[in-house]
Amino acid sequence: MRKEENIWRYGKNNERILTGDRPTGKLHIGHYFGSLMNRVKLQNEYETYIEVADVQALTDNFNNPEKVKNNVKEIVMDQLAVGIDPNKSTIFLQSMIPEIAELTVFYSNLVTIARLQRNPTVKTEIAQKRELFGESVTYGFLGYPVSQAADITAFNATIIPVGEDQLPLIEQCREIVRKFNSIYGEILLEPQAYLGENKRIKGLDGNEKMGKSLGNAIYLSDTEETIKEKVMSAVTDPGRIKKDDPGNPDICMVAYYHNLFSKDEVKTICEECKGGKRGCVACKKQLIKNITEHLAPIREKRHYYEERPEVVKEILMEGTKKASKEAKVTMAKVKEAMKLDYFKEV
Ligand code: SF4
Repeated sequence: MRKEENIWRYGKNNERILTGDRPTGKLHIGHYFGSLMNRVKLQNEYETYIEVADVQALTDNFNNPEKVKNNVKEIVMDQLAVGIDPNKSTIFLQSMIPEIAELTVFYSNLVTIARLQRNPTVKTEIAQKRELFGESVTYGFLGYPVSQAADITAFNATIIPVGEDQLPLIEQCREIVRKFNSIYGEILLEPQAYLGENKRIKGLDGNEKMGKSLGNAIYLSDTEETIKEKVMSAVTDPGRIKKDDPGNPDICMVAYYHNLFSKDEVKTICEECKGGKRGCVACKKQLIKNITEHLAPIREKRHYYEERPEVVKEILMEGTKKASKEAKVTMAKVKEAMKLDYFKEV
């Protein structure tokens, strides 16, 4: 185990993880390789809380509540399908834990607007959402790192798996915790970012990010037919006209995905491509087969839950009940520390 620059790079037992997904669309292979696989592994090492962040999703989907609501069960089914075990991980719904909203209000006194505006993650995201916000970002979106600090501290989570681009959010949370503790007493735990093996997966169009809104994703729930259509349209080496033209797998998205789904074959695939001994259509068909085979057990498990919505609801309700109890304990301590426990003796 090694700790450097406040980032845990290796596991540690007896600590709690908080992670989560925004219910704005089904999960895709970018989520799978970027965080879900890691999450499935980590649930065996740490007590794991997984938030379905519907309130956070509303910060940039406030005008589309149906979308958020409809995606809650989709997200939970995806999580269960990849191997999140409800006996090991607590899956809960953010909006059903009012203590998170309460903590957000308390913490908002401990953060300046200028500090939020300087947060590099927030700055980047605001720039990406210019279409939604125009020149004037909402109070809710600007303040979502404060709400995230509430998510983390409500459950005493100390390890937060994130990508490099989200490190400023964890730093912001740590600042809030330090400020709170310095004013009201040592109540909150300071979390650490866990970089783990999180990696960003490129989109079918070659975009650095695979995204729901970018239309360049392969979803975990995609059928074989859909996978086929998507892979057939993936960007390849544009310089290749004939099968025996030497290709460059470094600029081909099909080779990129072979790297993820065809680990044993990728070396040969790249050599044959470079030597002009492989046709792009055959190469794509091989990838379609491998992706389909890889995702088959996930789709099968997802299908099980699709047929049993009451089981999905029960898992989410049970997880939310457990999370609620935890948040209430934290809230009692916070209110006592902030002298907001007026009727305690009554
Ligand atoms: Fe890409 Fe395969 Fe075509 Fe080479 S042969 S350019 S790796 S699709």
